[in-house]
This record gives sequence, structure tokens and C-alpha cells, in this order.
Amino acid sequence: MMYALYIVMEGHFDFDEMPPEILWCILLTVVTEDGDGAFLRLSLTCKIFRGIVTKPSFRKQAHFIWLDSVINWRAFSKGHKEQYRVPYTLTHCLHCGEVFKDNPPGYVGDGKRGVLQGFYCTKDFLGYCSMDCFLNDGGEFQNEEV
Ligand SMILES: [Zn+2]
Repeated sequence: MMYALYIVMEGHFDFDEMPPEILWCILLTVVTEDGDGAFLRLSLTCKIFRGIVTKPSFRKQAHFIWLDSVINWRAFSKGHKEQYRVPYTLTHCLHCGEVFKDNPPGYVGDGKRGVLQGFYCTKDFLGYCSMDCFLNDGGEFQNEEV
């Protein structure tokens, strides 16, 4: 999909003339096919793309497209859906300062449609992007239940 966009752009296509809702849908397709990495690539591509993909509502919509592609909600209770069909937040890591996708407990993935990385019932390393950052900041495991 990114490739198709590049071809279009090589032809000096004017995105200003495209209806914004059409472009919105195209970019949603790109991020849900290519995953979270596409957010950065698209935001660096041009101002128009960046204006769209950095919108919280765009990220939220992409997240739900991904989530609905990996979970058959009808197989679960209403309460389960209410608890786990929720958006993520973007958080600055307390150690390295990088912005990371801060998932609430629940389903985790890289945003690629149909790809689920796992289900986490607790939230580890609260405020940190990774276990490394957590440990480098002096973090210790509270309970060693195995
Ligand atoms: Zn970090």
C-alpha cells in the first residue's frame, strides 16, 4: 500500500484536491496493513499526511480496526468487550523519554490487521516502554509468582 502511495506521489498527485475523507480512508488502510511503523513513515511523508495520522481520532479508529480484526467480540461477554475494546494512549517512557504505545491490560499488537501478539491481564512496567527501561531506572519485580 505504501508502494502504491509512492507511485501516486511520483505522478505529482495533488492530495489537496482529494476529498479529505477519501485520503483518511486510504491512510487508514495503509496503517492497518503495514502496522504501527506506518504512522511515523506517513507523518514524515508530507504535511497533509502528518495532519491526518497524528490526529487522536485517526489513531483510535486505526486501533479499533486492528482490534476488531483480531478479536471476535461476539464470542465474549458484553463486559469483556467493554473492558478490553479500549484505545491505547501515547506515553513518554519515564526512562528513555521515547513515546510508546501504552496499552491498557488486554490485547496487544503492532497494529497490523489480523496480527495479535498477545493478551496481557496485568500491566507490566507501568510508565516504561520496556523491561530494560524499567530495570535501568532501578525497577524491581514486586512479586515473583511463577
Ligand atoms: Zn524507554
